[in-house]
Amino acid sequence: MNGAVKEFVHSIINTLESVLPSKEYIPLHEPEFSGREWEYVKDCLDSGWVSSVGAYVDRFEQMLCDYTGSPYAVAAVNGTAALHICLLLAGVKAGDEVLVPAATFIATANTVTYCNAIPHFVDVEERTLGLDPHKLNDYLKEISEFRRGICYNRLTGRPIRAVVPMHTFGHPVDLDPLQELCERYHLVMVEDAAESLGSLYKGQHTGTRGLVSSLSFNGNKTITTGGGGAILTNSKSIAKVAKHMTTQAKTPHRWEFNHDLIGYNYRMPNINAALGCAQLEQLPGFIEKKRNLARCYQVAFQDIPGIRFFTEPDFARSNYWLNVLILDEEFARERDNLLESTNNAGIMTRPLWTLMHKLSMYHDCPRMDLSVAEDLESRVINIPSSAYLGK
Ligand SMILES: *Cc1c(COP(=O)(O)O)cnc(C)c1O
Repeated sequence: MNGAVKEFVHSIINTLESVLPSKEYIPLHEPEFSGREWEYVKDCLDSGWVSSVGAYVDRFEQMLCDYTGSPYAVAAVNGTAALHICLLLAGVKAGDEVLVPAATFIATANTVTYCNAIPHFVDVEERTLGLDPHKLNDYLKEISEFRRGICYNRLTGRPIRAVVPMHTFGHPVDLDPLQELCERYHLVMVEDAAESLGSLYKGQHTGTRGLVSSLSFNGNKTITTGGGGAILTNSKSIAKVAKHMTTQAKTPHRWEFNHDLIGYNYRMPNINAALGCAQLEQLPGFIEKKRNLARCYQVAFQDIPGIRFFTEPDFARSNYWLNVLILDEEFARERDNLLESTNNAGIMTRPLWTLMHKLSMYHDCPRMDLSVAEDLESRVINIPSSAYLGK
């Protein structure tokens, strides 16, 4: 590193240290169990109901409805499984294309593949870090045509069935223009809200706009059930099918084993839901602390040249799941230096995911111009974001 680069890297480490506690190592995101977790898990063990039926599953689902305003919630074994079911419920079939952002966690693309459908990669916008509805609209105008009321990709001859906005690091996608686009092109919207529990778009909880949406409660998410996820929907009938499909599609009967669909063993165990109930009770407090931490970062990085702290778009109240620094163009080539030096200094940092179309399995998938995603990939860095850091 030359002198100027060293100075730049030092200024960033110093700024991070001014916000963070002095500890040997600070991970990116740690769970916090300071509520009634022990009590509920113990109750669960004492009752003997630890598996896929039990009072905590029902209670957790009801609490999710109350918190998000979604009329229905179906708990699942993890967020990936929840999204898989969401896509099936959206009518995604073998040979369909599904529009997904190029900048996302692998599960968004993989679940499309689980349906034997093909992910079609879409660019993101710097304002939200999520799918760009205006750029997508211009692109669809160019490449799509209607056949019997269904939107087809003229270049591949395949139907484009659905679009999956993902609320990157908790920051909501601009859903109004996206919803208009869905109506215009007859696409089903499925929200991957795995990262955005507690985030609002124009006052409405993310994951309540799509026909179906998925949440994740993995260990690194805003709240955790160890592993877990959920499906949100406004439709009673879809919720019923979601529950059925996640429980091996077994038809209810006292002693007979009958199944009327190919179902999945995707139900959340009661013991995980017990953890989830205790975590959800603390969620408003977690969000407050996470937003506090973001404000501290924002102030601290205000006058640091060469880098910018990412703040929520003006239509949103974000959970700030993972905080983001964006390097100015002229410092993009120092990204790896910065990642190496911060991790060496005991502050865990991480780049953006490798973009989906750069992974070997997804090389040949259809895609639009992805210049914004590619530009952000070279400039985005995640910094420590655990709720307790924002006390
Ligand atoms: C975490 C995550 C998932 C999947 O969640 P799991 O519970 O780990 O299966 C899906 N999509 C995105 C964008 C995620 O961040």
